[in-house]
Amino acid sequence: MRKEDKGFGFFRDDGTEINPSLIKKPSLCVSCRKDDDPQEEILCTLTRADQQGEAEFRCDAFESRR
Ligand code: SF4
Repeated sequence: MRKEDKGFGFFRDDGTEINPSLIKKPSLCVSCRKDDDPQEEILCTLTRADQQGEAEFRCDAFESRR
C-alpha cells in the first residue's frame, strides 16, 4: 500500500502538504537507531520537514545506534 492510499498526509502549519519522499535524509539520521523505525516515521518526517533548507540538522530525539 502506498502512503497516499492510507488517506492521510503530512501538512505544514501553512497548510501546504509535505511529501516525505522529497525530503532528504540528514546524515545524523543514518546513525540514529530510530531511522527506519515505523513507529518513529511520522515524528522523524515532521522533524526533517521542519528543518529543510537549514545548514545544520538538529534533533533532540536522536539516539545513537551504539
Ligand atoms: S529521531 Fe531524529 S535523528 Fe533520529 S532518525 Fe528521527 S529525525 Fe533523524
